[in-house]
Amino acid sequence: MEMESLRELYIEELKDLYSAENQIIKALPKMVKAATSSELKKGFEQHLAQTRGQVERLEKIFKELDESPKGKKCKGMEGLVEEDSELMKEDFEDALLDAALIGAAQRVEHYEIAAYGTVRAFAEELGESEHVSLLEETLEEEKKTDEKLTELAKQINAQANEESGEAEQRQTTQKKTKRAA
Ligand code: FE
Ligand code: FE
Repeated sequence: MEMESLRELYIEELKDLYSAENQIIKALPKMVKAATSSELKKGFEQHLAQTRGQVERLEKIFKELDESPKGKKCKGMEGLVEEDSELMKEDFEDALLDAALIGAAQRVEHYEIAAYGTVRAFAEELGESEHVSLLEETLEEEKKTDEKLTELAKQINAQANEESGEAEQRQTTQKKTKRAA
């Protein structure tokens, strides 16, 4: 596709985000299921609801532009989601899995923060002030989600570290008993 204007690029990037958000809507319920910490589960559930609202904001913008939001697949998000599902197949201890899920979720948030920052700047340049405020709202939600995950990680990482200490100890005792036998 030949790109001739900033407006065209803006629309392409919006389509990319529309695809990204819809991929997240599919991925988050799996993350809710996989998470063991109830706080993390709740966090993912809340962000799922938020994400539905973010899709609605994008639809509003597309309606206003008289363009279809469809027709593009965000490959970046596809890769992130794929890595996330690989994680969930691993045989992790509880807190360790949660720590890994937070890592994956924060990658997603940072990807979105970058993408929304770009489209907001394009909207500003194009004089689309209504779009700017809609995109800004979503951008703030993504940033807050990222911060919340950082907060949650503190406690979960510590727990994961403790659990792995216990697992290591178990292994050493097993080895010792084997040697003694
Ligand atoms: Fe989002
Ligand atoms: Fe997000």
